[in-house]
Amino acid sequence: MSEADDPDCWICGKATNWQRYEVPQGALCLGCGRRRHYHPAPCPVCRVRRPLAFLDDQLVVCAGCAGVASPFACRECGSEEHLYGRHRCARCFLRERLSALLTDPTTGEVNSRLQPVFDTLIESERPQTTIWWLRKKPGVGAVLLGQMARGEVPITHDTFRGLPQDLAHGYLRHLLAAVGVLEPFDPYIERMGPWLDGFLDTVPERHRELLRRFGRWHVMKQMRHSASVGRLSRGTADAARHRVRIASKVLAYFDGLGVTAQTATQANLDHYVHSRGRLCGEHGFIRWLRTTGVNPRIRLPTQPQRPDPAVTVGEDHRWELIDQLLHDPSIKPYTRIAGLFTLLFAQRMADIVAMKTSQISHADGLLHVTFNNTAIAMPPPLDNLIAGHLTERGMSLHASRDTGWLFPGGSPGRHIATENIRKQLVAIGLKPYEGRKATLFQLAADIPAPVLGDLIGISHKNAADWARLAARDWRSYIADRSLSQSPRQT
Ligand SMILES: [Zn+2]
Ligand SMILES: [Zn+2]
Ligand SMILES: [Zn+2]
Repeated sequence: MSEADDPDCWICGKATNWQRYEVPQGALCLGCGRRRHYHPAPCPVCRVRRPLAFLDDQLVVCAGCAGVASPFACRECGSEEHLYGRHRCARCFLRERLSALLTDPTTGEVNSRLQPVFDTLIESERPQTTIWWLRKKPGVGAVLLGQMARGEVPITHDTFRGLPQDLAHGYLRHLLAAVGVLEPFDPYIERMGPWLDGFLDTVPERHRELLRRFGRWHVMKQMRHSASVGRLSRGTADAARHRVRIASKVLAYFDGLGVTAQTATQANLDHYVHSRGRLCGEHGFIRWLRTTGVNPRIRLPTQPQRPDPAVTVGEDHRWELIDQLLHDPSIKPYTRIAGLFTLLFAQRMADIVAMKTSQISHADGLLHVTFNNTAIAMPPPLDNLIAGHLTERGMSLHASRDTGWLFPGGSPGRHIATENIRKQLVAIGLKPYEGRKATLFQLAADIPAPVLGDLIGISHKNAADWARLAARDWRSYIADRSLSQSPRQT
C-alpha cells in the first residue's frame, strides 16, 4: 500500500512504504532498516557495536553519536540489542512470557522458589533461544516448569525421578540445580544407585549386604567427592562400577576357599593375588574391609611406586599436532583451543573443560590466560583463536552469564564434557594424556621447576620430577626407551 508521497529510502533509493523507519536524514525502507538493525557494526566515532544508520558529517554513525533517538530501540527498555519484532526487544518479550509461566496463582507473583530461574533465564545471553523454549506450544520442560510454578507438581528431584530420563527433563533438572532451586546432583551418581541395585540382584544373597555397604558408603561417597571437585567423569564412574564388580569377584573367590570376607586370612588373600597375577582395583575394597573392621587382618601388598613417566609422543610429532590445531579450520575452535592448552601448557583435560572465562584477561594489547596463578600471554595465532571463541561463545545456545564456563556444555550450568573434546582430539591423532606428558617433559627442560609449578599449576614436587627427567638429554632418553622397550621408532 505504497502511496505516491512515500519518500525514497536514503540508502537504496527505492520507494519506501508505511513500514519505513524515520531517521533524521530521511527514511529507510524496511529491508535496509532491518539490515542495519540486525547487523550492528562498530561505530566509526564511539567504536561501540550498534546499528549504524545515521549520517553525521558524511560518516554513518550510531544514534548516540548522531544525537538522535534510535528508531531501532525497544520501546520498553530502550535497548537496540536482541530485537524481537519491530518495536520490542527479545528480553522484554521474554520477561512477559516468563512472568506468565512462573506466576503462582495464589500470590499473583512469580513463584518465590522459582525466582532464581526467572532471574537466570531473563539474563540469557540469547533471549531468543529461551523464548523459543517457552514458545506457544512449549515442550515438556517448559510445561513442567509451569506446573511447578502453579504448585501442581512438587519442585523436587523425586518429581524428576518419576519422569522419563530424557533430554528435555534433564535440561530442566540441570537448570533447577544450576540456579540452586534443587540440590546439586550428578547424573553419574544418580545412575549409580539403580545400577548397584541391579548388580546386587545378580550376586549371591550372602554377599549382598556387604557389597551394598561398600557401594553405597564407600564407592558412591568417593564419587560424590570427585563430583565436588569437578572430577567426576564417565571414566571415574566406570571405574566405580568396576570396583564393585571386583569386590564381588574377591568374595566369590573367598567362597571357593570356604571363607568369607570376615574370616579370610592373609594366606587366603595371597592365594587370590596369586591366582589373579595382576591386581586391578582390589586395593580399595581390601582397605575398606580393614578400616571398617570387617576384616582387620588382611592387606594387599602396597601398590608399586609409580614408574618414571614415560613419554611416547616425540617432539616433532608434538609440533605437527600443534601446527594442525593452530591452523586447521575443519576442527572445531574449542577443540583446537583445548588441544593447544594441553600441548603448549600441559593442562589436564579435566581442568581445561572446567576453565572459566574469568581466567582470560587482556593487558598491554595481549590476551592472557591464567592457568594457575600467573597470567601467561598467549602467542599468536592462539590469541586470536581464543578471542574468536569468546565472541562465538557469547552466541552459544545455553551459555548463561552467571556460569562463566569458558566451554559451556549442552546442559545449563554445566561445562562441556571431557569426552566431547577428547574424542575429537583422538580423531586427529592426539591422545590428550600422552600429549600432556610430552609437553611437561619439554617444558620441564626449558623452565625451572618452581616457575613451572606456578605457571601451569602442577606441584613443585611434580615439576621437579619432570625437570629431573628432562635434564637427561632428549635423544638419550628416546634411545633408552627404544633399547629397553620395543624396537618401534618413536
Ligand atoms: Zn532501502
Ligand atoms: Zn557511536
Ligand atoms: Zn526491551
